[in-house]
Amino acid sequence: MKDILKVFTDLKYPDYLIGAILFVAFFAVFYYFLLKFLKTSGATALIKISVPVMLALGLAMMLIGKGVNRLFLLTPLAVALFAAAVYSVELKSAIWRLSNLKLSGAKYSIKNYSEVEVGNCIDEIIRALQNMSKNDIGAIIVLSNNNVPERILESGVEINSDITSQLIESIFFPKTPLHDGAMVINGTKIVAAGCFLPLSQRENLPKELGTRHRAAIGITETIDVTTLIVSEETGIISVAKGGTITRYADSEFLRKTLSKFYWQDIR
Ligand code: ATP
Ligand code: MG
Repeated sequence: MKDILKVFTDLKYPDYLIGAILFVAFFAVFYYFLLKFLKTSGATALIKISVPVMLALGLAMMLIGKGVNRLFLLTPLAVALFAAAVYSVELKSAIWRLSNLKLSGAKYSIKNYSEVEVGNCIDEIIRALQNMSKNDIGAIIVLSNNNVPERILESGVEINSDITSQLIESIFFPKTPLHDGAMVINGTKIVAAGCFLPLSQRENLPKELGTRHRAAIGITETIDVTTLIVSEETGIISVAKGGTITRYADSEFLRKTLSKFYWQDIR
């Protein structure tokens, strides 16, 4: 490794430019394999971003410490940009989460609700999902903690109503004005319906998942919410969280998901 670096750092102008390019290219190849490894090991986005950046920074410091060409200062920057481009979705998500930190938990805390009240909400949502599934009625429900951006809520219609299976089912009933788009639930209230969600740009989704599923996955890539989906074509109920989708959700899985949503410590 030291010898490889020495080849690059010993170069004189104009060769140092080529040296720098080779240096970055070397990192790109190294990072490519690192990436492949990280993907299979399922490491978190933070590790994915910080590992190469830190590595490059450390190496740059080492080089600069020896009084080597300042051009190498650009290396960490180049690698950081490369990482940012590769992980643009994760980065966007991290920035979203940071910007939403203050928003969430300010107005609503689940601690203000009784166990019975929350239990009812869970039952009503599951009943609605299962009824819609039986009748092949398409639906997207976003479970939020006050963290859905205003512009998404404004793309739909404000509702602000208690959660009942009848209301959920009527909203998604085909040919009614609000059946298109997503419903947003905030705690024990249905806050909006007919909302337009950002679509996931993932390329490796199964073909049978169309725009409804893409929209449901898309919002969980950038915001910390859970979405519940009923397929109009197949009646299959799915759950999306953190950019991944779990299909064929049975009542036990739905109960687990909803309990987690309602009883997690709301930040
Ligand atoms: P299904 O299995 O129910 O057919 P799908 O994943 O195949 O779902 P489509 O058949 O394309 O998807 O479903 C279209 C419906 O998905 C639209 O009528 C609309 O209600 C909903 N939808 C599509 N895009 C969005 C979006 N960006 N935000 C919210 N809802 C959306
Ligand atoms: Mg479809």
